[in-house]
Parts: sequence; C-alpha cells; structure tokens
Amino acid sequence: MRKSSSTESNANKKKKGNPSMKRTASGRPTDFIREIIEEDLRTNKYGGRVHTRFPPEPNGYLHIGHAKSICLNFGIAAQYGGLCNLRFDDTNPAKEETEYVRSIMEDVRWLGFDWGDRLYYASDYFEKLYQYAIKLIKAGKAYVDDLSAEQIREYRGTLTEPGRESPYRNRSVEENLDLFQRMRAGEFPDGSRVLRAKIDMSSGNLNLRDPVMYRILHASHHRTGDKWCIYPTYDWAHGQSDSIEGITHSICTLEFEDHRPLYDWFLDQLGLHHPQQIEFARLNLSYTVMSKRKLLQLVEEGYVNGWDDPRMPTISGLRRRGYTPESIRNFCERIGVAKKESTVDIALLEHCLREDLNKKAPRVMAVLRPLRLILDNYPEDKVEELEATNNPEDPSMGTRKVPFSRALYIERDDFKEEPPDKWFRLAPGREVRLKHAYIIKCERMVKDPQSGEVIELHCSYDPETKSGGPKATRKVKGTLHWVSAPFALEAEVRLYEHLFLKPNPEEMEEGSDFKANLNPKSLEILTSCKLEPSLAGAKPGDRYQFLRLGYFCVDPDSSAKKLVFNRTVSLHDTWAKIEKAQKQ
Ligand code: ATP
Ligand code: MG
Repeated sequence: MRKSSSTESNANKKKKGNPSMKRTASGRPTDFIREIIEEDLRTNKYGGRVHTRFPPEPNGYLHIGHAKSICLNFGIAAQYGGLCNLRFDDTNPAKEETEYVRSIMEDVRWLGFDWGDRLYYASDYFEKLYQYAIKLIKAGKAYVDDLSAEQIREYRGTLTEPGRESPYRNRSVEENLDLFQRMRAGEFPDGSRVLRAKIDMSSGNLNLRDPVMYRILHASHHRTGDKWCIYPTYDWAHGQSDSIEGITHSICTLEFEDHRPLYDWFLDQLGLHHPQQIEFARLNLSYTVMSKRKLLQLVEEGYVNGWDDPRMPTISGLRRRGYTPESIRNFCERIGVAKKESTVDIALLEHCLREDLNKKAPRVMAVLRPLRLILDNYPEDKVEELEATNNPEDPSMGTRKVPFSRALYIERDDFKEEPPDKWFRLAPGREVRLKHAYIIKCERMVKDPQSGEVIELHCSYDPETKSGGPKATRKVKGTLHWVSAPFALEAEVRLYEHLFLKPNPEEMEEGSDFKANLNPKSLEILTSCKLEPSLAGAKPGDRYQFLRLGYFCVDPDSSAKKLVFNRTVSLHDTWAKIEKAQKQ
C-alpha cells in the first residue's frame, strides 16, 4: 500500500510528461496541426472559422486510435471556438450496421464530446453526389467503364509502370449519361460497370489513374434501404461530404496523404469549397491490434467475449475494464500528434489511468485468494468497528467503518511456511500489522492432512497496538490487508493481462497469423474472493482501489446476489519507472 502510493505521487510530480511537447504561450500543448490552424486564423483563410469533423465508418466499434482522432477533432474545435461534426461515412452498405452507429455515438459522448445538432451521414448526400457525378460526366471528366474489377486493376499499372487507358474511356458524354442513369435504375448486374473519373492514366500518383467513383451493388443500406443500387466509393464521397458541411480543416491519418491531390481535383472540377486536409500519424499501441477488421475477427471467432470485452482496445472494452474518460483524454493529450508513425507503450495508457484513479478511487480491502486466519486470543463474540480512511490522497473522501473479528481472511500469498530473505509478510513466529487494526503474530498452522497444504493460520493479536490508538508505537515491517470472515461478501474477480504476448502482435512466424500471438492467460477468473462489507451496494461502473492489489471496477454482470469485479489495472506502474530512468 505505502509502496503504491509513493509510486503514484512520483508519477504525479511528473505529470507534465513529455518534455519535448511544444506549448503555446498559455502553456497549452500545441502541435503542427494547431500551428496550421492558428496561421489560417491569422490570415483569415476561412473567415475566422474552425470547423472539423470526426468521420467514422460504422463497420465496427471505436477503439483507442479513434479516441485520438476524436480528442483531436473535438478538442481543436473547442479550443478555437469552432464546431465539430459527427459524420458517419456510410458509403459501403455491405459491412455497416445500426448497432455500430449506436455504439459510436455512445462512445463519443462517454469520452465527453458533443456534436450538438451536427449529426450527419454520408448517405444523406447520395443524391447530391449523384448530381455532382452527372456534372463531371457532362464536363467530359467521368466515364462509364465496362472493364471488370480485375481488368481495371491490371490496366492500372504499378508505381514503376504507367497505366493503360480503358477502351471505354472515350465514350461520348451522351452515352456516359445514358449508361450512368441506367446503372442507377438497376438495369445492370453487380460489378458489370463502374463510373470512373477521367484524370490521367500515366500519373505518378496511382490515385489519379482514373479512380472508380461508383460501383453497382444491389444491396440494402442501413439508412437508404433499397433506394440505391450504385454506391459511391470512399474517395468520391469523402472530400465532397467535407465540402458540403463547410469543413475548414479535414484532419485524417497519413494513408490519405496520397489521396489529397484527388480530393482537390474533384473539388476543383466541381468548383466547390476546399477544406484543408491535414494528415497525422495514427496511434499504434504495444500489445494491441487496432484494425477493425482484426478486432471483428477476434469477436466473431470467439477469442474474446464481444466488442466490449475488457481486454479489447475498444472504447467500450476500456470502459468496461474501468478506464475513465479523463484518463483517455489525458493520454491522447500526452501522446500529441506527429507526422511520423510510431508505437506508443501501453504502459503510458495504464499510467494515465492510475494517475486518475489514484485521485478518485476509494480504497477498500478485498482478499482474492483467501486463507483463513483465527486470532486465538480475540474474544469469540467481539466485533470492533475500525475506522478506515477512504483515500489518503484526498482527505475530503472521508472514512468508513470496517468490522474486525476473531476469524479473518488474508491473502494466501501473504503467508509462507518457509519465507525467503527479506520477507516482511506472515510466516511461522513472525509479526505483521493488519491494516487499520492490530499487530498479529503467527503461532501455528493447520494443514490439510492429505495434501499438506496450509488451510488455516492461528495467530495472536497484541491489544496494545491498535492503529490510531494511544499506544500504537510499536512498529513492524509488513502491513497486510484482510477481511473479517463473518462479514465478508463473496465475489467473482476477473484478472486481465495483455491480450497479446508480443509488443507487436503483427510480428509472426511464416504461415501463422496475428492470432497465434494471443496470450492464452489474458483472462483469469477467481470465484471465491472476499470483500469488506462496505462494498455491498457497489454498482456496475463503480471503481475502487483494493489495497495492495490494484484498481478494480464493478462489471455489468454484477448483481446483488453475485458481485463481479474486473481488475482495471495493477498498482505496478512500469511507466513511472521508465520516466524516472530517463530523467536520471
Ligand atoms: P481501422 O483501420 O481500425 O479499420 P479506419 O481508419 O478504417 O480504422 P474509420 O472509421 O474510417 O476507421 O476512422 C474514423 C476516423 O478515425 C478517421 O478519421 C481515421 O483517420 C481515424 N482513425 C482510425 N484509426 C486511427 C488510429 N489508430 N489513430 C488515429 N486515428 C485513427
Ligand atoms: Mg477508414
């Protein structure tokens, strides 16, 4: 206990974190994106407006990488008195579901952000995008191509070879208009034709080699139903959606850098408002995969118990695990934004969480692997209500009463029949202090006659040593947590480790895939844990520090009959150690 709080306060001292982080005159961290925005404000580029958006595709749950983008987009809008839209990029009917839409809205709100009345869907723009496409066809800038997807790929060329023009590239405007209208009307089967922009098949940028704008797909869409059987590609929809909403700064991840000339080309041809696209490096986190496709595989193939499994890097998983929105926002601020790809140590995320919970979480006592302990010289019927502080970091959180009795539980790991050197916990003939209570001495053990396993300890207590009492001057090295046996609540506690064994789960042997790196011990369930009785009313989402064990939160599976807790994070702060070592 003492050890953990000193680690935490060390961490607090270094709260300012990353010393290389640039700051504005006001002390607020800045970065290259904010610098661009400040310059645009100075030159009045968008009439002093700052309008961003967060544009998720509703094909999965949001993860911690999305949190970075959310904090950036909503954070910048708030900082500069601007607006941020939530827009669902729902151009692909096949993979999108309303369950994802619901979860995304819940997660953005939970993180503490508000899109006000600016909730949009790219599918709301389908008609407008169609009209824009007609405009391009009429200007001779788009054509219907009958090549198959395979042939289009072949004709496209490579980075070193120019592409070849499709034999359908020079159709007349009339023929293109007629065919495109008939594509919309449903006259042609899936995949038989596409609409392509007519740009430059020899461009050094492959995105400009006549990119596909529409494909035929006879599929129901979660919002437009069967109204459409042609669907815009992401590349055709995204820039125009930003423009329609009057976005000033379209912030996206690096892989879209090469698409920027295409988005600019479309907007130029259509004579539309140009948002400024700015690319930043996506967040990668050690021991974690972040692609929605991979996370979906883990869910669908049963490697985890759903998108909100507490081992998942999803926002809903982190929430269920016990993460606070503040800790995630703080993490996103500390990692900052950069132009270069890197992997952030998951220990930093956990450190941000500990820092927050250290301030907020009430301390309680819980025994995860119980060993019965009898105080032979403590009266049989006596019960004392001992005073216990709720949070030594915050006296305003007050105190509570904890019952003390002759029969107790301590942690099995806190006793050793043959202790090693420097063992300050319990052993035959040794003394320890019981937190908030007395010094006790181990007098004898009871063993299971068959297995030889220690099943009960008999101890004596020293009545002169009551914590906070007038004569509590005697000191011993070890302090243990405990729970009174007759008053203990039963609970299930779920312990988690990293979901993957390797810092980079994508690094694998030939012929295997990332799932081969899953950690088989990522979940351990303990079913006969003992909790102090003050936890009787604990509700899902409530967070506590179990003394000496870590931070825990009540799982939604919990009920009055059966309490269920998740271990949010242990007390062992590896990041604080890394920071300390770096400073030395
Ligand atoms: P994934 O790679 O997980 O499938 P995505 O980029 O396809 O993610 P979108 O729904 O398109 O998912 O993402 C919405 C927004 O979140 C985009 O602007 C995207 O750039 C951003 N984003 C996604 N992943 C990350 C990440 N790891 N770090 C930062 N931003 C991200
Ligand atoms: Mg995407």
